[in-house]
Amino acid sequence: MDKLAASLVLKKGREKPVVNRHPWIFSGAIERVEGRPEPGDLVDVVGKDGRFLARAYYNPHSQIRGRILAWDADETIDETFWRQKIERAITGRAALALEPATTAYRLINAEADGLPGLVVDKYGDFLVIQCLTLGIDRRKEMLVGLLADSLNPAGIIERSDVSVRAQEGLPEFKGLVWGEPPPSDWIVRENGRQFGVDLLGGHKTGLYLDQRENRTAVCRPHFVAGKEILNVFAYTGGFALYAAASGAGPIVNIDSSMAALTLAEKNVIGDGWERPLDEYIAGDAFEVLRYYRDEDRKFDMVILDPPKFAHSQRGVERAARGYKDLNWLALRLLRPGGLLATFSCSGRVSADLFQKIVFGAAVDAGRDVQIIQHLRQAPDHPILLTFPESAYLKGLLCRVW
Ligand code: SAH
Repeated sequence: MDKLAASLVLKKGREKPVVNRHPWIFSGAIERVEGRPEPGDLVDVVGKDGRFLARAYYNPHSQIRGRILAWDADETIDETFWRQKIERAITGRAALALEPATTAYRLINAEADGLPGLVVDKYGDFLVIQCLTLGIDRRKEMLVGLLADSLNPAGIIERSDVSVRAQEGLPEFKGLVWGEPPPSDWIVRENGRQFGVDLLGGHKTGLYLDQRENRTAVCRPHFVAGKEILNVFAYTGGFALYAAASGAGPIVNIDSSMAALTLAEKNVIGDGWERPLDEYIAGDAFEVLRYYRDEDRKFDMVILDPPKFAHSQRGVERAARGYKDLNWLALRLLRPGGLLATFSCSGRVSADLFQKIVFGAAVDAGRDVQIIQHLRQAPDHPILLTFPESAYLKGLLCRVW
């Protein structure tokens, strides 16, 4: 195999993460760039001694200068390479694909599936893709073609309207990139529950698919039947639908997005539940929780599924204060013996740190808190062992006295 025309030569002592198969090459690890690679071009990653370490795509505009595609010098990065990686990701979800109760799940989880920067979610007959890096953006047409070949969808929608694209020097984009557009009232199933999903206008790619297993775990009938539930950060009713199906008492749903709550109510009704006592409250969660505390209102279960609070390492401390405040408020609203299901999707807040934050909130609230289950992202969002950054969603199901 000929050497590529361009290479990233690493500084002395900076080879180890690459040898250990971490897929990112930070600008600070690079001693010099040899050749003249264009943004998105393939480059070899070599040690200071010239030894081949990996093959990556390159972006001079990003702090992550290289994202590794292969560690084998003989691997050619051609269309066959991309096709095989896509096929491997599909194979990993074969059990889900056979499950008629669930038609919406993640097919490709970027780095964790060996395809840095590419996210593909399946919503029944439609695929939604996110191109998070320049290397992927440049190959979009080819990748869309391969996805269409492998999966024969009705349409492929791109939802690259995410702010991380700016770090790659890319503008945001959303639109139909292949086939036909989805109907505005497209329905998918998740564990037998029916969700209407807005693939072009909703958050992320439409649903928070990473919470699928946790919705089941938290909303078991013996936890929720007949209970009063406060579903904070409700979005389009993910947890509410499961709780309704398990015979929950009144559910109070809070979200800052009116559009999300409108769809949440429609989804609960569409899934077959008549629930005249449920409430849908559009507002800031912190304010509503403080109001309930002042009113001395109590619940049997509180679900906290906030958006990402920490967007950078510098933001972690502030995020920790936000999580603590939120959990402290929730603990104050629970009846003795009630349940708290609390989550963080900030990758920078480790599971360990998150547990410590909830510990701090429990001490300040003066409540005894027992963890009864540790929760994680669903298995279609795999965590690559050599890439701990792919573990981002963590949660605790707690009994509160
Ligand atoms: N639990 C949901 C997903 C929640 S995502 C599910 O299972 O599908 C986070 C939600 O928090 C989003 O819907 C967003 O609109 C909402 N949100 C963000 N900031 C908020 C705030 N300050 N107060 C209330 N809701 C907020």
